[in-house]
Amino acid sequence: MVQYVYEFSEGGRDMADLLGGKGANLAEMTRMGLPVPPGFTVTTEACRAFLATGTEPDGLTEEIAAHLTALEQSAGRRLGQPDDPLLLSVRSGARFSMPGMMETILDIGLTDDSVRGLAKVSGSERFAWDSYRRLVQMFGSTVMGVAPELFEAAIARLKDSLNAPDDLRLDASDLARLVETYKNLISGETGEDFPQDPTEQLHRSVRAVFESWNGQRARLYRRREHIPDTLGTAVNVQRMVFGNLGPDSGSGVAFTRDPATGHRRPYGDYLPNAQGEDVVAGIRNTVPLTDLGRLDPTSYTQLCDRLGTLEAHYRDLCDIEFTIERGTLWMLQTRVGKRTAEAAFTLAAELADEGLITADEALARVSGDDAARLMFPRFDTAAVGDALAHGIPASPGAAVGAAVFDCAEAVRRAAAGQKVVLVRQETTPDDLPGMVAAQAVLTSRGGKTSHAAVVARGMGKVCVCGAEDLAIDLQGRRCIAGGITVEEGTVISVDGSTGTVYAGAAPLVDSAVMRYFETGERSGDLVDAVARALDRADGVRRLGVRANADTPEDAARARRFGAEGIGLCRTEHMFLGDRRKLVEAMILAHTDADRVRALDALLPLQRKDFVGILEAMDGLPVTIRLLDPPLHEFLPDRTELAVRIATAEARGTPPSTHDTELLEAVNRMHEENPMLGLRGVRLGLVAPGLVAMQVRAIAEAVVERKRAGGDPRAEIMVPLIDAVEELRLVREEVEETLAAVSETSGMAVHCPVGTMIELPRAALTAGRIAQEAAFFSFGTNDLTQTTWGFSRDDVEAAFFSAYLDKGIFKVSPFETIDPEGVGRLVRIAVAEGRAARPDLKIGVCGEHGGDPASVHFFHNAGLDYVSCSPFRVPVARLEAGRAAL
Ligand code: ADP
Ligand code: MG
Ligand code: MG
Repeated sequence: MVQYVYEFSEGGRDMADLLGGKGANLAEMTRMGLPVPPGFTVTTEACRAFLATGTEPDGLTEEIAAHLTALEQSAGRRLGQPDDPLLLSVRSGARFSMPGMMETILDIGLTDDSVRGLAKVSGSERFAWDSYRRLVQMFGSTVMGVAPELFEAAIARLKDSLNAPDDLRLDASDLARLVETYKNLISGETGEDFPQDPTEQLHRSVRAVFESWNGQRARLYRRREHIPDTLGTAVNVQRMVFGNLGPDSGSGVAFTRDPATGHRRPYGDYLPNAQGEDVVAGIRNTVPLTDLGRLDPTSYTQLCDRLGTLEAHYRDLCDIEFTIERGTLWMLQTRVGKRTAEAAFTLAAELADEGLITADEALARVSGDDAARLMFPRFDTAAVGDALAHGIPASPGAAVGAAVFDCAEAVRRAAAGQKVVLVRQETTPDDLPGMVAAQAVLTSRGGKTSHAAVVARGMGKVCVCGAEDLAIDLQGRRCIAGGITVEEGTVISVDGSTGTVYAGAAPLVDSAVMRYFETGERSGDLVDAVARALDRADGVRRLGVRANADTPEDAARARRFGAEGIGLCRTEHMFLGDRRKLVEAMILAHTDADRVRALDALLPLQRKDFVGILEAMDGLPVTIRLLDPPLHEFLPDRTELAVRIATAEARGTPPSTHDTELLEAVNRMHEENPMLGLRGVRLGLVAPGLVAMQVRAIAEAVVERKRAGGDPRAEIMVPLIDAVEELRLVREEVEETLAAVSETSGMAVHCPVGTMIELPRAALTAGRIAQEAAFFSFGTNDLTQTTWGFSRDDVEAAFFSAYLDKGIFKVSPFETIDPEGVGRLVRIAVAEGRAARPDLKIGVCGEHGGDPASVHFFHNAGLDYVSCSPFRVPVARLEAGRAAL
């Protein structure tokens, strides 16, 4: 018999797959002896079984009933007992936290009868009716499907008619009337009455939570966060405790440390006389947690104590939800807390200093994505104008965009390529698409734990919340702040690190972390923490990290950022600009002498390029790739040329011979599918003299550097090999040229010759290719294109979003390596290549080299190094270190 229900005391934090994150942590806190209201968890397995069949699996209903009985016995009263009702909450809780995405129903067990009993035992009519109206509202919308706005509108009408600024001004009889209104609303909308049977309330709520797993909001969130759709949610059924019992009660959210900076200090929001959902929803403005120290010093001290206990137990920053019921503190939730990139680094360093975690654990706690975020610029505070508004800095970074006031407009403008800032009073899960589309989110209400703040932090998106001096006029599509009107479309700047909002586009300055990478200036806690993480990563990683760089400037930057060489130096840009004419001349050459002349003119220019790069990377390997793209990329555009000729003819002047020859060449070389055409090694084999010229330029650059006392380490890389014969032929030409340069210069020039593995055939015949290659470098961009049969430029706009929506892939295979297909080819090539030549050096130089998940794959696949863009080098170092842990 499967066990579908677990008492809190039976579970633990390691059971999150089965009990969901919330259930597992409630169990953990229960076992730690912290004051958690008793309850039980219905497993994710039960949810999956329910969703598969549409009904409760066998035995589930009975199991819930048995656990309910146990709960009733320990409480000494029954669910919804008329004179003294036991009330319950039914809370969703998936394996991965999905803030505000799923459903929770509070105060289950209240009915027309038991509300009176509750009023009597609690001594507060108002509290009883407030709880009842919450139940009817949550049950009505979540379980019975009535649009939540209808309830909101009803309470707003009531408040208006009473001139009440917030819900605290509604008294017991107002709330009783509201319950009537709500119940009528439900019958009117659904043709069914609000159920008066507490057990029915419970069972239907559990079902509704199961079903909420497949709700639209939940699906969207999962897609964004790459959470599998198949996991299902657990359901937690728990005895209610009440924060809305009067001024000596309340609810709040707290963090063991500041989740924005990582520093140690009490941090959170508190709302007196409220149930928990009010805090997150931003219904009323919360007070900082430290105010609780004045309102209720005993509870505050207790809370700080428990935060300490939790942090020591979890050995990490935790966030919690708590409720104080008439001076008694209850813990309602905890989890390892989300944090900003800045906090992640600072916290890891501080926890390590405090001896709570090891240096390796500290490294595991930060990520390459975090490091990348810290490399972005911030606003230049010395140069910005007056602030438009101030709010709470909820998610750091600097963003500039046009102000928009609703989700649809944000999505519309972003789709048209505009940068936007989504400005809302507060956000709800329905705003998610707008938040995704926006550069930043700005709200006028809510604290650091509001929906806007939590979700934006999770996305790494700039967010300022609770900017109360911002008056939003939704109808007028504008907002007013500091006497200035911001119409829709007006550009504003949002500083998520300080909470300040500016009119116009504020000027930006580099980040301190970036300055550290550029100059080595190690100042401030954050920079120090980042430097420590990178030092550790460098100490443990097995993968080398190189950069893709084609200019001396990029090479020098890459080196400052910690690159250990160049994994890909492309030579194509060296053929552009003024040199295009020389390439044209080479292509148009009628005679060998013409062609030689054109190549000879290119040679010294190429040599100079290589000298600069070898100098910047002195002592480190520089892998130079021979020319890769099809030659017609260096010729003028076919249509343009045809038009030029036609215009000349129309004017009666004959077109220049040069133009007609060019057009002829362009037509001759035109390809329907250049990606699969005459490029890479194929070009070297059919364009005489091209390889020799490039190799000579490299070899002579090596000689020049050696004469200058340098230590040049050029490697020659042949692109787009399909068959070993191609490599053998090119290699012969390379060796001949190297020998010739050695001879004339009197200095032996040796450059290892290797190849890119970027076609499936090359991967599948890697054993043979390795016999001719000193090294392999996976060109995973082309390998992905040719393995999937996708032309990247054509598919990304055309159907990738549909493929992501349909779950055909969770992430674009151009972003993160596809481990099953492309990755399999990589593994085959590594195994067969090494079998043929044990000392074969293997790297990767596609964009995947700087992608965290891909770096882990390459580590596991046994590569020697990854190569990525200079700015991604710190990211790759960090992730290579984490992969080795
Ligand atoms: P979410 O996952 O969206 O945070 P929760 O299940 O935590 O949803 O519940 C929403 C709110 O209801 C929380 O603020 C929580 O504190 C409150 N709540 C849940 N269960 C109880 C309970 N047993 N007693 C009092 N408040 C509760
Ligand atoms: Mg919660
Ligand atoms: Mg390629």
